[in-house]
Amino acid sequence: TAPRTEPDCLFCRIVAGGLPADVVATSERAIAFRDINPQAPVHVLVVPRDHHGDIAQLAAADPALLADVVALADEVAGEQADGQFRLIFNSGPRAGQSVFHVHGHVIAGAELGWTPA
Ligand code: 5GP
Ligand code: ZN
Repeated sequence: TAPRTEPDCLFCRIVAGGLPADVVATSERAIAFRDINPQAPVHVLVVPRDHHGDIAQLAAADPALLADVVALADEVAGEQADGQFRLIFNSGPRAGQSVFHVHGHVIAGAELGWTPA
């Protein structure tokens, strides 16, 4: 089947290779690259290759793909840090989502505080 893609989506463009990114890991259905504005020693975005807007839409449309995203996050944390990680999905602008192609933030490589709001 054809990939789900949106012409004006930043992460669809990175997935397609049309914009550069510091890619640290890939799988058949997902890609992981460093955030341009890192908030931790390891701050990697894990992105399904198919376009879905947010985590709830992804989970409803393709739960296996959400599981692939989580598996790639775990792989990145194992390669880039000690295997321990926080995985954040901002959902909606008031929660801090600014790119509307679902992505998990893998935050790792330090003792993490807990001040989510
Ligand atoms: P959100 O705010 O949607 O949860 O996360 C979007 C993230 O994408 C932000 O942390 C931001 O720094 C990152 N970002 C925005 N544009 C780019 C880009 O062109 N390349 C990379 N690697 N990260 C980006
Ligand atoms: Zn997209």
